[in-house]
Amino acid sequence: MKRRLLLLSLLTCFSLASVAQQDDKPDLAVVKQIREEGLTRSKVMETAFYLTDVNGPRLQGPGFMKAANWSKNKLAEWGLQNAKLESWGEWGKGWEIERSYIAMTAPYYKTIIAVPRAWSGGTEKMQQAEVLYIDESDTTALEGYRNKLKNKVILLHQPFAISPSFNADAKRFTESDLEKMAKDESVARDSSYRSLIAAMRTRNAFNQKMRKLAKQGGALAILNTSQLSKDGTLFVSGDFANAATGIAHDELADLTISVEDYLSLSRMAKAGVPIKLELDVKTKFYTTDTKGYNVIAEIPGSDPKLKDEVVMLGAHLDSWHAATGATDNAAGCSVMMEAVRILKTLGLKPRRTIRIALWSGEEQGLHGSKNYVTKHFVDPATNKLTKEGEQLAAYFNVDNGTGKIRGIYLQNNTAAGPIFAKWLEPFHDLGAATIAPKSSGGTDHVSFDRVGLAGFGFIQDGIEYSTRTHHTNMDTYDHLIADDLKQASTIVASFVYNAAMRDQKIPLKKPALGDAGR
Ligand SMILES: [Zn+2]
Repeated sequence: MKRRLLLLSLLTCFSLASVAQQDDKPDLAVVKQIREEGLTRSKVMETAFYLTDVNGPRLQGPGFMKAANWSKNKLAEWGLQNAKLESWGEWGKGWEIERSYIAMTAPYYKTIIAVPRAWSGGTEKMQQAEVLYIDESDTTALEGYRNKLKNKVILLHQPFAISPSFNADAKRFTESDLEKMAKDESVARDSSYRSLIAAMRTRNAFNQKMRKLAKQGGALAILNTSQLSKDGTLFVSGDFANAATGIAHDELADLTISVEDYLSLSRMAKAGVPIKLELDVKTKFYTTDTKGYNVIAEIPGSDPKLKDEVVMLGAHLDSWHAATGATDNAAGCSVMMEAVRILKTLGLKPRRTIRIALWSGEEQGLHGSKNYVTKHFVDPATNKLTKEGEQLAAYFNVDNGTGKIRGIYLQNNTAAGPIFAKWLEPFHDLGAATIAPKSSGGTDHVSFDRVGLAGFGFIQDGIEYSTRTHHTNMDTYDHLIADDLKQASTIVASFVYNAAMRDQKIPLKKPALGDAGR
């Protein structure tokens, strides 16, 4: 017994030592090849062009499906295997805008900058309408307007004022920003995202009641805006209307207009100036295929012992609809597609299988990635990782706009820090060196992280993400920065390759659901 114990402890020491001695220094000859292909023969902007200009908006539904099919075919053309669209479950109706026009015709003619919110209804034909201004915020008070709604366009009071922008729209992280991030070890979950979702749900509930009343009372449309929707940039999204939330579509025209137009109309309405509008909005709902899909493709592993293990990389391919979703998130998808193109073109033979996933339904609540993780990696009966879950070596995500990579967030997985620090060494000259211990949230790596799998997102320069492009009518190809996307593709290709070659999988921060550790 004693001898066995001694032997066991010797074996344990030996295996611990071999883990500790794992050399995470990347193969610099391979890094050199990846850099040459990624920085001088890049196709990342060509991919972005097809995903944005050519495809158009990629809202969950028909717009997404066009881009999904194009991406699947392109990945297959580049030599990836098992390229397919994989359903993640029931979504709900698809939707597209077919026409959208609104202008003020009295007291004078003026065009209005406007985009229908997602899953908005239409006006059936060109309509003339007066404005009804409603200064209420609780739903019971709305009842008093029931008989005043016929043929009106509703303007709900929103307490906004605008001020000039004294700060630059675009930003990069400074050295001191990055130093702060490297020292910030807070383990707080991403509560900002959760409270944002909660606030959106409350607002959606109010809008929902208002729209129902408006539809019943014969109103033609509702106009809304947001504090940020100024200087020609409109922030446009939509209710989380889908099979999962059960929110019904009332098919009332629901338009986001610029805050300047909104404030002007409100002032005149409050002063009793008669306002006339004309509007013609046509939208289309699709019910032929109500399922949601992810795009999946692979570079098969070459090591007989490790080829069943998988390194995943991904980004969400769906977008909101007011523009072509260039920075959110054609950028991330183009980078991820480019990363696997680089690896495939170089003919590298990864030991583990590399699998790319382009998710859908991210904008309405990470549906594509969440359902993929649940279906493949978690056993619902035991709430433990499945065999497939045990075989996932790591997941890498890009979804923070067009900015170049400055480092990586650890999601509080300190064991991964020294590994990633080594992997970033050959890219310090490209501005990527920071290891941020804390978590980043709000996108698809959270679907992996929340069940204890090794899921990570990169630190990227913000550029104009929060001021101009994120969910706006200005999220277009010309807001992409080619050099930044080339840099990001090169670094992601290298990370994914390293993860596929490493003797061990990326360590987990704690035993995942029932995981025995690694
Ligand atoms: Zn996004």
